[in-house]
Amino acid sequence: MGENVAIAATGVGKAFPVGKQSVTALRDVSLALPAGTLTALTGPSGSGKSTLLHLIAGLERVDSGSLEVLGSQIHSCTSAELTALRLREIGFVHQDFSLLADLTLIENVRLPLEAMGTARSAATAAGREAMSRVGLEGLEQRFPAEVSGGQQQRAAIARAIVGNRTLVLADEPTGSLDSRTGAEIMGVLSQLRDEGVTVVLSTHNPANLSHADHVAVLHDGTLHSFDAAEAGTA
Ligand code: ADP
Ligand code: MG
Repeated sequence: MGENVAIAATGVGKAFPVGKQSVTALRDVSLALPAGTLTALTGPSGSGKSTLLHLIAGLERVDSGSLEVLGSQIHSCTSAELTALRLREIGFVHQDFSLLADLTLIENVRLPLEAMGTARSAATAAGREAMSRVGLEGLEQRFPAEVSGGQQQRAAIARAIVGNRTLVLADEPTGSLDSRTGAEIMGVLSQLRDEGVTVVLSTHNPANLSHADHVAVLHDGTLHSFDAAEAGTA
């Protein structure tokens, strides 16, 4: 495996128990994503996009196959190792921002560092830097309800990269935003990619695919195609 591969999935399968049945979410998915690229996962609702992101994040376990993320074989990591990898290296951005309403933006953004035991002053400094990278300087003391949806999503992205984490996974990051704001958020993610961050996002919006270096199309849990985006910026 090349050392510039950030994520390598080989024959990955995942099923969920539903009553006495089991629902296959992913079947024999293999792909390799180079570090410092932006990959869009697309496909119909229920095709397995969120499941693949959750597996890469170590939030769910693969049932079969192997999955290497940032040099760790995460299919064989202990829970403690997975938690450590996630805190240190991986940021997750949700459709609905998932900021804590009772915390200011800077308190939200520095939270992953505080969870790792970083001192308050160092976490705050890193949080300010992350906020400035996504265009939020000056809004550190606002509460989430006091800024726009686009600014909330920028804060969620800042929380994902705080402490110079280099892998950002984003599940429908523009799904709650109007198209203009969604395009701005794609611009922020593309800029982070230009700075060397590896970005993997899921999206329903064809307009977002033009920002991607690679597009993976999922159908019913299988990888239908994996390609450089036609209008990509690679
Ligand atoms: P997408 O994000 O593309 O809409 P998902 O990854 O959420 O797709 O879902 C893929 C399939 O796995 C769907 O059939 C979905 O119902 C099923 N699934 C996902 N998560 C669970 C779960 N926790 N329990 C049961 N079934 C699930
Ligand atoms: Mg989903």
